Amino acid sequence: MSPTHDVIVIGLGGMGSAAAHHLSARGARVLGLEKFGPVHDRGSSHGGSRITRQSYFEDPAYVPLLLRAYELYEDLERATGRDIALLCGGVMVGRPDSWTVSGSLRSARAWDLPHEMLDAREIRRRFPTLAPADDEVALYEARAGLLRPENTVAAHLQLATRQGADLHFEEPVTRWEPYRDGVRVHTADHTYTAGQLVICPGAWAPRLLTDLAVPFTVERQVMYWFRPRNGVHPFLPDRQPIYVWEDATGVQVYGFPAIDGPGGGAKVAFFRKGRPTTPETIDRTVHDDEVTAMADHMSTRIPDLPGTFLKAATCMYTTTADEHFVIARHPAHPGSVTVACGFSGHGFKFVPVVGEILADLALTGTTAHPIGLFDPTRLTAAPTGGAHA
Ligand SMILES: Cc1cc2nc3c(=O)[nH]c(=O)nc-3n(C[C@H](O)[C@H](O)[C@H](O)COP(=O)(O)OP(=O)(O)OC[C@H]3O[C@@H](n4cnc5c(N)ncnc54)[C@H](O)[C@@H]3O)c2cc1C
Repeated sequence: MSPTHDVIVIGLGGMGSAAAHHLSARGARVLGLEKFGPVHDRGSSHGGSRITRQSYFEDPAYVPLLLRAYELYEDLERATGRDIALLCGGVMVGRPDSWTVSGSLRSARAWDLPHEMLDAREIRRRFPTLAPADDEVALYEARAGLLRPENTVAAHLQLATRQGADLHFEEPVTRWEPYRDGVRVHTADHTYTAGQLVICPGAWAPRLLTDLAVPFTVERQVMYWFRPRNGVHPFLPDRQPIYVWEDATGVQVYGFPAIDGPGGGAKVAFFRKGRPTTPETIDRTVHDDEVTAMADHMSTRIPDLPGTFLKAATCMYTTTADEHFVIARHPAHPGSVTVACGFSGHGFKFVPVVGEILADLALTGTTAHPIGLFDPTRLTAAPTGGAHA
């Protein structure tokens, strides 16, 4: 049986839709297989907004990838006419020695990124909705802002389809295995073969990537929308920045301006403070005590924000032990399988550059992008071969 396609992409969420676009743009015959419909809300790429920023407190090694992602996001908007990025500016707030502030400053200095340091008084003057404590400071970045995840995924799917990719929705992969020089992928009713497989499973990584032997923790995360106490006006994006705000105990909260017009609210969420779950058992109900805890947490920082609670939604992080990504050739199948997973709650801003890297790896076996930090073997003992549930 000759291969039906050059490359099969499993999962058409954030990363997989970008891979399908970049692969098909280079002329590969792509088959995309997605468990749910296009642009769904059961994985990790929904909820209206995602933060993007360049002074990356997590590690300066991410900065060159971010610079490329910014370019590719611009290309994506231009190619599809969709509204994706809103660079309203952003503040990373905390004590000077907090991870959020000191790490952001480290990246800004290492890469000579434009930024300003603001003391508490200057934060209050520039952004009157914010009420930092006297010992808190902020790194302000004018090029930080937000991305619209649903529009991003829709744009990548649109381009991939236009470039001839064959995208199948509501067709979950049940298993895959090495086959001759390539791979074989099974769904309930079909078996497909290809020379290359790209796996972008999001929170389903523990199921689709058993022989990667990387431990992942899937976490339930909650996003909250509030209508501010004195109306939405001071929270519109021409005056309200995105923020990541770390308290003295290391808890980080982040939020957005009000992007849904006068009738909408502003979104806020805790960063990296979820409960372990699985995609099958996640509790999608957001409980009153959770809403109260968020309103209390914000009441001293952005006192006008928790006016009226509007809605909440759940989402999943897929977290590695060091919170860095996994992007690599599969160590057990280095000639035919490429993986992108474990985005640990901070992957969305990288979506288009991850698509570019996955296309490089699947089509040439290597990439010029710096991805050494994302090698899965840092997290695991020797990989094993075999079949995959
Ligand atoms: C609440 C929340 C807030 C976040 N905020 C930010 C932020 O501000 N900035 C930022 O950069 N990042 C943020 N992130 C992280 C970012 O959104 C994720 O890293 C990113 O969306 C992950 O994309 P993905 O493609 O790995 O997963 P997904 O988009 O979930 O895609 C995985 C896909 O694989 C499919 N799939 C799984 N199993 C199968 C199968 N067997 N067969 C076929 N298809 C399958 C799924 O249905 C899904 O569509 C946030 C995440 C959450 C949850």
